[in-house]
Amino acid sequence: SSTKPAFLFREQPRQMPARIPLALRRDGDWGELYGQFDHAQARHQAGRCLDCGNPYCAWKCPLHNYIPQWLEMAREGRLEEAATLCHETNPLPEICGRVCPQDRLCEGSCTLNDGFGAVTIGAVEKYIVDAALAQGWRPDLSAVVATGRRVAVIGAGPAGLSCADRLVRAGVAATVFDRYEAIGGLLHFGIPSFKLDKTVLRTRHKILEQMGVEFRLGIEVGRDVSMDALLDEFDAVFLGLGSYRYTDGGLPGQDLGNVLPALPFLVHNGRIVHGGDADPAGRPIAGWEDHVALPDLRGQRVVVLGGGDTGMDCVRSAVRLGAARVSCVYRRDEANMPGSAREVANAREEGVEFLFNRQPLALVGEERVRGVRVADTVLGEPDARGRRNAQVVAGSESVLAADVVIIAFGFQPDPPRWLDGLGIGLQGDGRIEVGAPRSGCASRVRAPEPAHPVRLPYQTAHPRIFAGGDAVRGADLVVTAAFEGREAAASIVELLRG
Ligand code: FAD
Ligand code: SF4
Repeated sequence: SSTKPAFLFREQPRQMPARIPLALRRDGDWGELYGQFDHAQARHQAGRCLDCGNPYCAWKCPLHNYIPQWLEMAREGRLEEAATLCHETNPLPEICGRVCPQDRLCEGSCTLNDGFGAVTIGAVEKYIVDAALAQGWRPDLSAVVATGRRVAVIGAGPAGLSCADRLVRAGVAATVFDRYEAIGGLLHFGIPSFKLDKTVLRTRHKILEQMGVEFRLGIEVGRDVSMDALLDEFDAVFLGLGSYRYTDGGLPGQDLGNVLPALPFLVHNGRIVHGGDADPAGRPIAGWEDHVALPDLRGQRVVVLGGGDTGMDCVRSAVRLGAARVSCVYRRDEANMPGSAREVANAREEGVEFLFNRQPLALVGEERVRGVRVADTVLGEPDARGRRNAQVVAGSESVLAADVVIIAFGFQPDPPRWLDGLGIGLQGDGRIEVGAPRSGCASRVRAPEPAHPVRLPYQTAHPRIFAGGDAVRGADLVVTAAFEGREAAASIVELLRG
């Protein structure tokens, strides 16, 4: 029935889709952790929305999705309309539904968090799009009028894909270049398959091609084709280059054997799980040129340093690779951890041990690492950004035994040298300088600093070059990269229309 029971949120508790049983996960199952709602479950979960009239969820979603509206369509079984509405604001809804840290975004601000459990917004978003696609729904571009203008998009990560999607919807031809053979950027080569199955990316690849996006994959701009050539061939260029230089903690002993940086470890696992498909064109990954083989983790004591989403992906991958003991060392407490609370809970359930308030000081060993010297910490006063600094407690040092250590301290932008000759400005930390987001957007997505009011949003100092995603923000989220790709496309269309 289309009549909505007023108090469904009380009768029907919050429920996520069923998960892969724990024993299988510990036994090396790399399948997506969460399954799919069936139609009845999705309708019930969507029907829990109060339509509270003040949709904090939509406000907190960086894309400003029409959440209450598509939840209601899902409840009524109007899946194709719901899928169309999801795509109005989000070029990659089935992906965000899977990987967004919803507990910090839409679901974190749901009114029902007040004791009843938030609506499972991400899981319903994923369900709507997966189910609509399975029954043959595709984005309708029949009313699009071609402008004859052409744009090169460098980078097939979420920023580049979102930009290309919005360009073709505006009648601007988009050609996406990526140095890797598969689309997705970190969606493909960083995020493990237990969070995002790679068939989802293959489906999205086909959809974008059907929409008219051209892909030139396995081509590295600056090496295989120059920016000058692209500026000659295309009316404008979007840079969605990502942020790949990993943060160097400068720990003594980090060059010992069996000490691994996080991203190459995750990429390597992706290759094992997906065979040749995940091989990024056989090219070395930044920071991994000297490393040839990944140690066998079976029966090993693995210590992961860092408490962000990358750290959570590493600990959970180590569990699936058969490690005997997996520990996560983080210098602050659990409340101040950057990783999503849901991912932390999943890791804990899979047997990961969390060692909070521990500052790694050095890696110890001879040729190979044998342990991590750590000190206890206490949290000091909040700094200018509101984060409490970890302060080492004198005389509290100890050594944690480890056979393998994975360093997951985050990533920094690594702007390519070929940007130099184009007059594009960079921040001190290497982020690309661009114009400020449109008003009304900045409240949800932190403005690039310093923002340039005279430029179009996401326009660089070169008038025909735009940029967005991690290359502009520093390492962040899929949904914020999608937002910036979408907004940059709007600016490009504005520029091309004169
Ligand atoms: P990327 O995804 O990095 O894509 C950039 C693309 O540009 C790459 O494909 C690269 O090959 C290409 N490229 C760069 N230079 C060139 C060139 N010269 N020529 C051709 N191609 C080029 N975010 C979440 O929201 N949820 C998560 O659960 C999550 N988990 C994560 C786990 C890990 C391990 C990591 C590392 C990140 C995670 N993130 C997560 C962050 C998220 O993946 C990134 O913020 C997002 O992918 C950034 O998108 P992007 O398009 O800016 O860059
Ligand atoms: Fe929530 Fe992310 Fe979907 Fe926005 S895009 S509604 S934050 S899951």
